[in-house]
Amino acid sequence: MKRKRGWVKWVGVAACVFLLCGWIGSFWSAFGYAGRNVTVDLSVGCFEVGVYPFVLSKQGWFASRMNYEVYWLPKVIHGSFGTLRSTLLFLPLWIPLLLVGAATILAFRHDGRLAPGHCQTCGYDLSHVKSDTCSECGTPFKRNEQKL
Ligand SMILES: [Zn+2]
Repeated sequence: MKRKRGWVKWVGVAACVFLLCGWIGSFWSAFGYAGRNVTVDLSVGCFEVGVYPFVLSKQGWFASRMNYEVYWLPKVIHGSFGTLRSTLLFLPLWIPLLLVGAATILAFRHDGRLAPGHCQTCGYDLSHVKSDTCSECGTPFKRNEQKL
């Protein structure tokens, strides 16, 4: 049996923490990057992409405090904020958070379920291991539980 890719779920956990911090932080601040006429940032609880029909006066990384209303649903705004035909796209961060969170939970359950008789830490096949610890990574295990 192949060794599980145990790091996948931890990448998922890290992504969840990152998304959660970004989401909550964007409730009262905006932070992102402004290019020539495109901005990409986190604000109002969303991942926001703005496209403007003119060259932006301030370019580069930015962070600012703000207290706009939080958007809970995806939204497209045309020509607001007094700029002609600009387009703002908002993707609420709870959507990727939910997807990544669900995938991470599945990865954890997948690990536990798919490995009877295998080390719960590294996935090593323990069926021929005679000691009480995994010979691959040293994690102790209870043989009775492994035979469920
Ligand atoms: Zn192990």
